[in-house]
Amino acid sequence: MFRLPLSARAALPNASSSLRAGSRRAYASAPPPAAGAKWAMPLSLAGLAGLGAWYSLGGFGDVKPIATEGKSALNKDEWREFTLKEVKPYNHDSSFFIFELPKGEDSGLSVASAVVFKSDAVKDDKDKPVIRPYTPTSAPDTPGHIDFLIKKYKDGKMTEFVHGMQPGDKLSIKGPIPKFPYKANEFEEIALIAGGSGITPMWQIMQQISADKSDKTKVTLIYSNKSQADILLREEFDALSKKDERFKIVYGLDKKDKGLPADTFEGYVTPEVLSKYLPAPAKADKIKIFVCGPPPQVAAISGGKGAKGSQGELKGLLADAGYQPDQVYKF
Ligand SMILES: Cc1cc2nc3c(=O)[nH]c(=O)nc-3n(C[C@H](O)[C@H](O)[C@H](O)COP(=O)(O)OP(=O)(O)OC[C@H]3O[C@@H](n4cnc5c(N)ncnc54)[C@H](O)[C@@H]3O)c2cc1C
Repeated sequence: MFRLPLSARAALPNASSSLRAGSRRAYASAPPPAAGAKWAMPLSLAGLAGLGAWYSLGGFGDVKPIATEGKSALNKDEWREFTLKEVKPYNHDSSFFIFELPKGEDSGLSVASAVVFKSDAVKDDKDKPVIRPYTPTSAPDTPGHIDFLIKKYKDGKMTEFVHGMQPGDKLSIKGPIPKFPYKANEFEEIALIAGGSGITPMWQIMQQISADKSDKTKVTLIYSNKSQADILLREEFDALSKKDERFKIVYGLDKKDKGLPADTFEGYVTPEVLSKYLPAPAKADKIKIFVCGPPPQVAAISGGKGAKGSQGELKGLLADAGYQPDQVYKF
């Protein structure tokens, strides 16, 4: 996998990060509980067909994983069972799930990549085990555990099951499922447009950049949620934007609230929001816009993903604003 020299890694100043002997660093295990979480974009816009498109595996493009230097506990071709070590509630519908890794081993994931969960206890309509992708919130070189922040959906097959798990229970995990192969300084500037639990792949990229002081990439996160209480990883983002000028955080909420940064906007992402915060399309290959969220949001901003996990046509606000397909990546 893509790894930084350990000496180049730096700390995030939050209580959930812990410095390990040998300079390995664990990020974002579990911030203090907040409350609430819903998409800023109405799910009704795209309906369940859209949900299915976001959730379906289909395929993840043609990105190949980068070989790991360390010992990875995961295997991309083999389901392996991992034991749930701890559950840390985050808010009313999202919790951290911390799975144990064998001693001295890490997830070995490349950035950005996901894993897939499977449980024989959860079957789909064709009586096949349900499989869903998740992006760890712990850094790829975190030894001994792998953490996920998972939002529970009412009647959601996998999330109802995972939220019912107890420490000691086991789950099959496979990965990495490679997504976008992030490289330091490939772009001058990137923008991350996320909604709700679509934040986790963005957080993976942000951690990678934060840990590499030689990476000069400027990052703007535009993160939509229904209310302030629904913002996932808020503590991490606020800390990051305070200490590291490479990062700018912009929250979007259904209704503005007290105690939020000045850049918080009300309502959905609009052409005005994009033109205010995004690097201009004229910057060509010096920029990249990443999009991850529920189908209505992705459809409105960039057009939905295509068949079998392909990127699909670039449409929506980004196309209207003049961005080109190769300037945009949909998770
Ligand atoms: C690359 C990637 C990374 C991801 N990472 C994360 C992550 O880190 N954290 C996270 O929380 N999520 C993540 N997700 C989303 C995750 O994969 C699941 O899609 C999500 O957890 C919901 O799964 P589920 O099986 O519980 O819900 P599903 O069973 O798929 O259902 C979702 C919702 O739709 C409703 N629904 C579905 N079908 C029907 C139907 N026929 N009739 C009526 N209602 C229906 C359900 O009631 C439920 O509310 C990621 C997705 C992708 C693509």
